[in-house]
Amino acid sequence: MMKFSVLASGSTGNAVYIEAGSTRILVDAGIGIRQLQAAFKEMAVSLEELQAILVTHEHSDHIKGLASAVRKWNVPVYTSAGTWSKVQSLFREDEIIQARSIRSGSVFSLGELVIEPFAISHDAEEPLGFCFYYQEDKLALATDLGYVNDRVREATRGAHTMIVESNHDLDMLRTGPYPWYLKRRILGDKGHLSNDSASEFLGDVITEETESIYLAHLSQENNKPELAAQTVSARLRDRWNGVEEQVAIHLTSPRQPTGLTAVRPSRFQVSSR
Ligand SMILES: [Zn+2]
Ligand SMILES: [Zn+2]
Repeated sequence: MMKFSVLASGSTGNAVYIEAGSTRILVDAGIGIRQLQAAFKEMAVSLEELQAILVTHEHSDHIKGLASAVRKWNVPVYTSAGTWSKVQSLFREDEIIQARSIRSGSVFSLGELVIEPFAISHDAEEPLGFCFYYQEDKLALATDLGYVNDRVREATRGAHTMIVESNHDLDMLRTGPYPWYLKRRILGDKGHLSNDSASEFLGDVITEETESIYLAHLSQENNKPELAAQTVSARLRDRWNGVEEQVAIHLTSPRQPTGLTAVRPSRFQVSSR
């Protein structure tokens, strides 16, 4: 069974923990060592067991803790050549860092996980989203994207759990306090997904297999957790009768981990009966 926890999500820092069989990885290290240690302690997982850190892109909310984590636990970094070109300056030239280059469309194995990176549209150098496969389980992670293309939809379709950005409410952003250039950046094709765009994306890719949706990277200025959840659930209900009985919508938080959960929680229930 594949399990995961969104340890932190939002513009203040992002990290997702995933485990499958004996494999333990982190996606992004945008939180400090202490927050990371606290989250691992809560899950009763040792950071010494971490086998890799995947990096989606070089924005500070995704890499803030990367250099310290890599040094402390001597763990390899998996990222695109573009992202690596931006983050390698975090390390001294004489430091021996295990960096592995991955790219969109090239599926690879990492321990017992099979990982499919896909390109996302964001104002960074070669940013990636990921699908994770283990036995029958599929987990999709797509945050920090201004626009969803066919390739992203194709890769993520039918995931049992989807961690998807629901960054802002369009009205709150438009009328909110951000300066115009920032609003334009967020709204642009290389910015962030609104609650509406996230709903549309999810409506396109969820299938009968999908059990859980985690709304991620919520803006603290331009969104409200309950508004994001309401918008997405209302839009999904419009498109799919009975969706609320099948798919659970969860929120993520900048500081409070979601807790270690199965990618297919229904299998949990069946086996515990
Ligand atoms: Zn981000
Ligand atoms: Zn970003």
